[in-house]
Amino acid sequence: MNRIHNFSAGPAILPLEVLQKAQEEFVDYKGTGTSIIEKSHRGADYVEVDAKARERLVQLLGLGDDFEVMFLQGGASTQFLMAPYNFLSEGETADYINTGTWSTKAIKEAKRFGNVNEAFTSADSNFHRVPTDDELSLTDDAKFVHFTSNNTIFGTQFPLEPETNGVPLVCDASSDFLSRPIDISKYGIIYAGAQKNLGPAGVTVVIVNKQFLATSNKSDIPTMMNYNTHAGKMFNTPPVFGVYMVGLVLEWIQEKGGLDYFKTFNEEKAGLLYNEIDADDFYRGTAEERSRSNMNVCFRLGNEDLEAKFLTEAKAYHLDALKGHRSVGGIRASIYNACPRESVVALVDFMKDFRSKNG
Ligand SMILES: *Cc1c(COP(=O)(O)O)cnc(C)c1O
Repeated sequence: MNRIHNFSAGPAILPLEVLQKAQEEFVDYKGTGTSIIEKSHRGADYVEVDAKARERLVQLLGLGDDFEVMFLQGGASTQFLMAPYNFLSEGETADYINTGTWSTKAIKEAKRFGNVNEAFTSADSNFHRVPTDDELSLTDDAKFVHFTSNNTIFGTQFPLEPETNGVPLVCDASSDFLSRPIDISKYGIIYAGAQKNLGPAGVTVVIVNKQFLATSNKSDIPTMMNYNTHAGKMFNTPPVFGVYMVGLVLEWIQEKGGLDYFKTFNEEKAGLLYNEIDADDFYRGTAEERSRSNMNVCFRLGNEDLEAKFLTEAKAYHLDALKGHRSVGGIRASIYNACPRESVVALVDFMKDFRSKNG
């Protein structure tokens, strides 16, 4: 087997153990004579898969009875619409913290439903930082405060949840969900497309606080867009393969040691890269130091020709998918939970070698 060092931003690397387990039981799921994706989603086998995945999320995040877990479709992009559809009406205001492309898209959708107060933006510095709490201009009676916990494209991450004085957070955690512990009590909603840190594309994990859900009093929400449709029941066919894979990834996270383990592991991996970036001026990190992401490490070299050379030569070392997003340029190493330490070490070794030949 010849797996590359995969630094793809998404869909992204999955744990090899998970891929192998899925492969083993794919054609004949637990001796039932069919795969898990050829069975009724109301049958005992899938219902168990679904229930176990929920249970693992409850355990990992310490969710009490006051949270609903939903496995929805349409990606994080649908949540940009669904959250304000359910929680924002004309004349009401929601605070949005704008830290990049994804927040900007979320703001565009929210404006269809009510007032959006942009509580902070780092657009003028090409989103190279996230705010400190005292930089936020929050609205007194905001329905919620939306933020993007990790900014996949610009390589920034909130070190902690923003302080909102009790106003529920609505969080797009697509690219750092389950990469570290969080204080779930602060969240009205946390949502994540699976394809970065959690599983294959096609399923979005959405966790909604029930008290917050009770504050949604709109009557004109189309059925599939209404969180109440999905709360506590399987309304329509869920993305069964995605949920099954997410379940395997959750099991793997638990076996490794849970969110505390991954916090340390991810900090260590990112530290190896930032250390190399900071060694001298050859590599230049694009994010402000306090705002640096442990998931997407973005950096530039002296000029674009050198960056192109870096990417080409990296390929020869099986270091793949390192090209930065077109809006930032340069290099981006996405090092989610499933990225092994060996891959990061291989990249650091290559960076040292490339510097010594081109510096
Ligand atoms: C990738 C990404 C998205 C888009 O997710 P889709 O599932 O493609 O809709 C949204 N937000 C963040 C933070 C992302 O990284």
